[in-house]
Amino acid sequence: MKKKEEGKRRRIIISYALAIVLPCLILGFLALRGVKNDQALVEREQRNNLLESSRQIINETDEYLLAVEKSFTKLIDSIAVPYEIIFTDSMLNDFIAENLAVAGIFYLPSGGTPYLLNNNLLYLPEDFISTADFMSSGKKQDIFENGWQIEYREHDYQKALRYYQGVLPGITQKQTRGEILNAIARIQKKLQLADEAIETYELIWNGCPDVMIQNKIPLGAVALLEKSLLCLAKKDSLAALNSVHLLMTQLQLPEWEMGYSDFSNFLSRADEIISLCANSDNIEIKSLVERIYSLQGDISSSLEHTDYLLTFIQAGETIKQNPNGRRCKTMVNGNSYFFSLFPANGQRYWGLIINQDDVLNNSVYTSILKRTGASEFYWEVTGVNGELLMKSESSPEDIPPVYTVFPQTLPSWSLTLYPESSGLLASLFGPGASIFLYIFIAIVLILAFGLFFTLQTVNNELNLSKMKSQFMSTVSHEFKSPLTSIRQMSEMLVQGRVPTRERQLKYHTTILKQSERLSHLIDNILDFSKMEEGQKLFNFEKSDIVPVVKNIVESFQNHTSEQGFNINFSVFKPVPELVFDHEAMEQVMHNLLDNACKYSGDSRKIDVKIEAKGNRVIVSVRDFGAGIKKEDHDKIFSRFYRAGEELTQTVKGSGIGLTIVKQLVEAHNGEILVDSEVGKGSAFIVTIPIEGP
Ligand code: ADP
Repeated sequence: MKKKEEGKRRRIIISYALAIVLPCLILGFLALRGVKNDQALVEREQRNNLLESSRQIINETDEYLLAVEKSFTKLIDSIAVPYEIIFTDSMLNDFIAENLAVAGIFYLPSGGTPYLLNNNLLYLPEDFISTADFMSSGKKQDIFENGWQIEYREHDYQKALRYYQGVLPGITQKQTRGEILNAIARIQKKLQLADEAIETYELIWNGCPDVMIQNKIPLGAVALLEKSLLCLAKKDSLAALNSVHLLMTQLQLPEWEMGYSDFSNFLSRADEIISLCANSDNIEIKSLVERIYSLQGDISSSLEHTDYLLTFIQAGETIKQNPNGRRCKTMVNGNSYFFSLFPANGQRYWGLIINQDDVLNNSVYTSILKRTGASEFYWEVTGVNGELLMKSESSPEDIPPVYTVFPQTLPSWSLTLYPESSGLLASLFGPGASIFLYIFIAIVLILAFGLFFTLQTVNNELNLSKMKSQFMSTVSHEFKSPLTSIRQMSEMLVQGRVPTRERQLKYHTTILKQSERLSHLIDNILDFSKMEEGQKLFNFEKSDIVPVVKNIVESFQNHTSEQGFNINFSVFKPVPELVFDHEAMEQVMHNLLDNACKYSGDSRKIDVKIEAKGNRVIVSVRDFGAGIKKEDHDKIFSRFYRAGEELTQTVKGSGIGLTIVKQLVEAHNGEILVDSEVGKGSAFIVTIPIEGP
């Protein structure tokens, strides 16, 4: 029997594997291939989109430069070329100021060296500084030769001072006036007339600050520096700093055309004065120092710009070597330059030095932002040596990017665009993720669960069918033995083989009992099948339950007294009338008492009790026999279930008695409980509500 079951189970598992597992695995594999292909398609499309974006960003950068170049072409068309190149051409400088993409403009004469046409330079190349004296008239020479004689030969400073002061009113020429005032202040310093000297320098600053002396040193700058030093000597830090502040404000404006050495000399002298005064606790001084520091910052960035442009322009040969193409790039002293050449007449060119930072920030960056928008789009722009110039706020995930190098006609930048992350799918299908493995594990787990549940169901079904066949055989036995005795006894009675009246009565009684038993068995089976199909009909009536129970108890007492059973029946009065179905309750009592007798073992005592509690009536049947194991307490109410192997081997039964009892009780809206302990007996307690179902 067991072997047969095993074979059945194995067959089910094999057919399950063939019919479900195998196709599932194949389908799973195919689906995965499909998903992978789809993912590859999506990725390809994404990459194409990114390539298109890169193309557009590059085009827009090109257009940005083209627009600047176009307006520059218009501008130079309006300027007559060749012409005298002057540094402060206002049209050119306005153009530079209006176009942030332009760092500088230069002019490249045929065969000559390039000229820078910006006036926003802080200093000029030394070779641009003319050392020629502006006015070498005889009169001027005479004045200074005389003064020089008195001051440096005779060392008579008083006389020299008087001399210069005497000459001054007759001089109207600004340059000469400036130089005389400078001489007066110098002599006043020598005479330690600090206040007078300060006044003279103030006169210079207010009257002729832009007069150039010696190698184009602006007299205004000299006056401010000297005044500051004199104030410092007088321990008037505030006045000294005010003067330095004024000097630096002026130095920052590209109005004084100085060579680098003079410019940096003024700067370092000013620095010395600042550092001498900077530690003061005076609030006014402190705030002034702050302002000076910020000026210093501005000056140093303008210096960088000037350096950048002059370094380029000094590499004239490099510029000339560039091809005839419009846009060129070159490296000078580690700086990268990008410039546009515009042919003028002959071999001459105009040149635009492009401000690459502006192109990067105002064109490339805006173009990228236009495309990234709110999406999770990562990007990077790198320079010629792979250095990072700018990047998106968040860092890209580990996704292969689309890398585009800017074309030859644009600065040597590279654009890296990372595909948009597609969330879970991307992380699952991303490179390195062994998605196949994960999905297979998931499928195998699902199938394992499926197999488990199938086996569970198969097991239940097998058990049920086993119980059913057991039921059939026990029921057949149950029928067979009473039928056999009825047949034998009837035969004997018919054949007149039972002589005495007493014996005849005994036979008749037995036949009656056995047929009653048979009819009860048939009732049980019929009820069971009716209830299984939900077709059992009830006839609920309100009446007294005590006589019904009492009748059954008495009938059992009669039938079992021969075997020595003693059934106690007690009623805890008063028990009210309740709504119930007579036949059903009789069957309940019959089944419970039948079980109590069957499973009483050696005990012969049975207690039946009826009592009323609240709006319920409780009927209990207690025996003192074999008892039931705790784990079987629930199971005994299931169909065909028979607990205790040994007991059920010796005691006949079908396993449907208690199932019927439970269903009948529940049809009354009541409940049945079992209270049992192995070896001590069992009590079945039926509770029925008075008002019925
Ligand atoms: P059966 O025809 O086997 O008696 P029942 O449905 O009436 O079927 O009972 C189910 C099982 O419950 C029995 O096989 C028996 O193991 C257990 N059982 C029922 N009543 C008692 C009882 N009074 N004492 C011990 N075991 C009982």
